[in-house]
Amino acid sequence: MIAVNVAGLLHDGPGATREVRLRDHYAALGPDLEVAGPMDGLLRLQRTNRGILVRGSVTAPLRRTCARCLEPYVEDVAVTIEEEFLPTLDPETGIPVAIDDEDQALRIDDHHEIDFAPLLHDELSLTEPMHPLCRPDCPGLCAVCGAPLANGLHLHEADEPDPRLAPLARLLEQPKD
Ligand SMILES: [Zn+2]
Ligand SMILES: [Zn+2]
Repeated sequence: MIAVNVAGLLHDGPGATREVRLRDHYAALGPDLEVAGPMDGLLRLQRTNRGILVRGSVTAPLRRTCARCLEPYVEDVAVTIEEEFLPTLDPETGIPVAIDDEDQALRIDDHHEIDFAPLLHDELSLTEPMHPLCRPDCPGLCAVCGAPLANGLHLHEADEPDPRLAPLARLLEQPKD
């Protein structure tokens, strides 16, 4: 949860702004998104006629798994945020706000808080590549034994003749006639 109380900003008139700085901010964003370290970012909150417009950018180190060598690695990802959050309750009267055809709208909760965690989860999840690679030229795994090829050339038993085939080899080596 990365919650910011915006009650004061809601009471201010349209155009009022406030900055929210995330620095060395640790947060869990769900089981499908492994944040490997602190997030940094600067979000600018602006009071609009309807709610609060949030704009800014956030960087986060995400732990991924290489699609070729299956090793974990960390990628620093930056996302841009631009979303409007609408109040659940009228900040002056406390009466629930009816918003037509806006079921998809992001909401300020009934404690006048915005939780940025779901938004950051969604934005950061979208940065996941189809084929994450620990490095562009990752050589992947040995097709024979599965060892990482990044460790250099290696030999294994499969390079030698299979002992079970030795009798067959002897048979083939026998001179004809
Ligand atoms: Zn790799
Ligand atoms: Zn191998």
